Amino acid sequence: MAICFAEKQSYFASIHAARICMKMMKETKRIAEKDAHLKKDDLILITGAGGFIAGNLALYFRNNGFTNIRAVDKKPLYEWYLHVPGVQNLCLDVSEEENCRRACEGAVEVYNLAADMGGMGFIERFRVECLRSILINTHMIQAACRAGARRYFFSSSACAYNTLLQQDPNVRALKESDAYPAMAERGYGWEKLISEQFCQEYWNERGLKTAIARFHNVYGPHGTWDGGREKAPAALCRKVIEALDTGRHEITLWGNGEQTRSFMFINDCVLGIDKIMHCDDLIATPINLGSSEMVSINTLLTKIEQIAGVKMRRQYDLDAPQGVAGRNSDNTFIKKTLNWEPGTKLDDGLAATFAWIKTQHEARKAGRRVGVG
Ligand code: NAD
Repeated sequence: MAICFAEKQSYFASIHAARICMKMMKETKRIAEKDAHLKKDDLILITGAGGFIAGNLALYFRNNGFTNIRAVDKKPLYEWYLHVPGVQNLCLDVSEEENCRRACEGAVEVYNLAADMGGMGFIERFRVECLRSILINTHMIQAACRAGARRYFFSSSACAYNTLLQQDPNVRALKESDAYPAMAERGYGWEKLISEQFCQEYWNERGLKTAIARFHNVYGPHGTWDGGREKAPAALCRKVIEALDTGRHEITLWGNGEQTRSFMFINDCVLGIDKIMHCDDLIATPINLGSSEMVSINTLLTKIEQIAGVKMRRQYDLDAPQGVAGRNSDNTFIKKTLNWEPGTKLDDGLAATFAWIKTQHEARKAGRRVGVG
């Protein structure tokens, strides 16, 4: 009886403690002081800039008149997809603390997009590599904070969401709260969740303004299209282009082709990054950045066939990596906070992507060097 009473007491004590804790969290919610306006010559650091999204982000800022951009990637320069004129390109491995310090020196804003990543074929096969990106995010956020950067952007992923909610192709779209209780994609998704936590605590404890966007499948020109890290839209475009070239109009799809996804065009992605980074209501708050136009992989291929003007004979490899059965982005929160959502139609984005991959395919065939993932 006495034990039972003690248990009850401790139970009520823990509820009381939890309530106090929640009250404190509410009370200690930080007030974001207004920043000085970002000047065109303030230093913007972008990591992963030899890759797809960060390369396009450097181009976006350059096109918007920013004159002091530092782009960093561990890949040798000749493998970068984009060399944006006027941008300082550095070849540094930012999983090393010292390199992060060097990269962040003098930076007013830091956009950290470096990660060891790829499509399903990569993240299911190389979980250790994906988890090791924690070194990048651990050192980068600390270096940004030490360097006195005003804002820090982290590229999270829809792979951070609970996989149990994604077992049906007719899935309901994922909203931000669906990441918890956590059951993220093994390796890659868990690393993203932990890095999101870093962003939240660096804001809470150290006052670094952080932005966290959960990207949903980004596609477009200047991205990985061959080599094993490419994602479905680029892989299918390439396979169709190769088929046109050889005259063998056959294609093997991974899985039964009924798995569903939404795909966001790169121009929407870079614009969304800018909007999220500079919204004080979104500090340290994960938010979906994705399209809500969900299609099956079969439909995606049909769209590419229409662009290419060809009909492929389809085969299905049911043993190939295919990820979750269905995934879509619930854009209620982004529409509410930013009065905006990614809006490029898949048909339009695919046409631009197909055209670009065709140029790369032809350049490589002609013996010219092209960017690689
Ligand atoms: P990407 O592979 O094209 O670019 C990532 C770049 O990071 C590569 O160029 C790579 O060389 C570089 N990198 C890796 N490790 C590094 C290191 N230690 N030091 C310096 N550079 C390093 O990938 P992406 O599609 O541009 O993705 C950018 C970010 O967006 C990543 O964080 C990724 O997880 C996230 N994301 C992308 C998608 C997508 O659909 N592309 C979806 C969700 C999240």
